[in-house]
Amino acid sequence: MKLILLGPPGAGKGTQAKIIEDEHGCVQLSTGDMLRAAVAAGSEVGKQAAAIMERGDLVPDDVVVGIISDRVDQPDCASGFILDGFPRNVAQAEALDKMLEEKGLALDAVIELAVDDAILVSRIEGRAAETEGGPRADDNVEALKKRLEVYHQQTAPLIDYYGNRGVLKSVDGMAEIDTVSGQISDLLKAG
Ligand code: AMP
Repeated sequence: MKLILLGPPGAGKGTQAKIIEDEHGCVQLSTGDMLRAAVAAGSEVGKQAAAIMERGDLVPDDVVVGIISDRVDQPDCASGFILDGFPRNVAQAEALDKMLEEKGLALDAVIELAVDDAILVSRIEGRAAETEGGPRADDNVEALKKRLEVYHQQTAPLIDYYGNRGVLKSVDGMAEIDTVSGQISDLLKAG
């Protein structure tokens, strides 16, 4: 199974990706996690990405496209993968299309976690308050609001991008975690 999970920061993509990973035996590919690992390791990519991530902007497309392309070639991805946090704009989606075609792969579904903006902002504020000074340098209200703004400007157009191709499925991301994962499971079973 090859999936994209689409949704704004705080929508629960990571949580759902882990549940799908356990249920379907495919691998979660989170560009955010990979970039944070690169920052922690002090690699060239990490040095390039750190400040950009801290303020909630997008790191350059070629960096994330390269990371994903290399990762998809790893043997564990042969059983399928869930893209969590990638693509983040139309240029990345086009690069992904080209990459998958070159590798002879195809997406099974794009799942949108639909969430209400006002609820998201209050969730984000709660999360920032809990984790201020915590493990994520971008978990402060200012950066999280910037990430939400970037989502609306650059990532939300992907809903139409994939909707127009008939591969988009939408679930209510505001429901309880188990309800959301149940909805996703049903969608995947229905094909
Ligand atoms: P996330 O954990 O998915 O919320 O990502 C955290 C941060 O990593 C984002 O705010 C961006 O700075 C960066 N990032 C993650 N994925 C991407 C991507 N596909 N394109 C550009 N930047 C990304």
